[in-house]
Amino acid sequence: MTKFKGFAMKRLNEVGWVEKEKPKCGRRDAIVKPLALSPCTSDIHTVWEGAIGDRRDMILGHEAVGIVDTVGEDVVDIKPGDKVIVPAITPDWEDEAAQRGFSSQTTQPLGGWKFSNFKDGVFGEYFHVNLADANLAKLPEGMKPEAAVMLSDMFSTGMMGAENAKIKLGASVAVIGIGPVGLSAVGGAALLGAGRIFAVGTRPNCVKVAKEYGATDIISYKEGEIDEQIREATDGEGVDAVIIAGGNMDVWPQAVKMAKAGSVISNVNYLSGADVVPLPREAWGCGMANIDIATGLCPGGKVRMERLASLVQHGRIDPESLVTHKFNGLDKVEDALMLMKDKPRDLIKPVVLIDE
Ligand code: NDP
Ligand code: ZN
Repeated sequence: MTKFKGFAMKRLNEVGWVEKEKPKCGRRDAIVKPLALSPCTSDIHTVWEGAIGDRRDMILGHEAVGIVDTVGEDVVDIKPGDKVIVPAITPDWEDEAAQRGFSSQTTQPLGGWKFSNFKDGVFGEYFHVNLADANLAKLPEGMKPEAAVMLSDMFSTGMMGAENAKIKLGASVAVIGIGPVGLSAVGGAALLGAGRIFAVGTRPNCVKVAKEYGATDIISYKEGEIDEQIREATDGEGVDAVIIAGGNMDVWPQAVKMAKAGSVISNVNYLSGADVVPLPREAWGCGMANIDIATGLCPGGKVRMERLASLVQHGRIDPESLVTHKFNGLDKVEDALMLMKDKPRDLIKPVVLIDE
């Protein structure tokens, strides 16, 4: 049996390199080698906040572009040697949750999230992808792996935040948090036709990309309550939609207070640090204010990746703007992950490139 190495969560609060047997390829599955990888803030929640509980020697990572090594005998479209965008979420498409339209929640809540959750992730020399034909999208000709790897989770999640917020043409939107996920939400809101877009965050690179992606107003949460600043800017009206993509539990009361009747508070933030989400009863109209809350896990699968790639191919938005740090060689995933943990102020997203 061939051995391969990967960078893993060894246990809570501990990461390191591990050696494993090359994964077996099921009849409808694929084994893929990475060409571009990126760590996610969720990997940090997983290792250092124990947000999904303990995991032992589990290879981390769920954002990849790769080259197909092997496919199972029932795989039709995907062939060895194909370059592919690997979605962070690889649903079980036959499951009833997928048939009801919630493919990220197949078999159990968050069940479509397999890499670095229920099985080894993508930070290895090889990784396993279930249902290759349904879950892998071919990398479009001319698209750089470092750009495409931003679609796997960042664009898919952030743009879902905007889709779930039910943004109407000309609507006003507040995006709380403009790390790579929030920035993708800003881009999604603009593409869906928002008018005024408030982006809440302070890192200068993030502010720059927020403007590039369509933000019209920048709000610093360090300069007072966000809702007060947004109410002041809107003559007391508030906004039609709120997307939560960062911050802690304190942002929830502020989100409710800036939401107009009929607005949706769309959460994509991975909540940790407290067990109860605070909602201000009065500001929420004692639960009758027509302020709805939407939640969701990043959508996965081939079609989702193809559609996001189409946005890029046709010049609607440039994912490479999110990439601030580039590394070369699988060995560097460790540095990239630690960068994501430390979050220096010039960071949006690091990418690790690996030669074929
Ligand atoms: P980042 O840490 O890069 O960005 C967080 C943002 O929140 C920054 O803009 C930061 O501002 C801002 N922020 C921090 N504190 C506050 C505050 N008190 N009030 C308002 N804003 C604040 O995160 P990512 O973009 O990488 O990820 C965002 C979240 O999305 C994470 O929780 C991640 O786990 C989750 N996620 C969820 C997925 C899903 O499927 N639902 C998938 C992928 C990620 P500043 O500019 O000052 O740093
Ligand atoms: Zn993620």
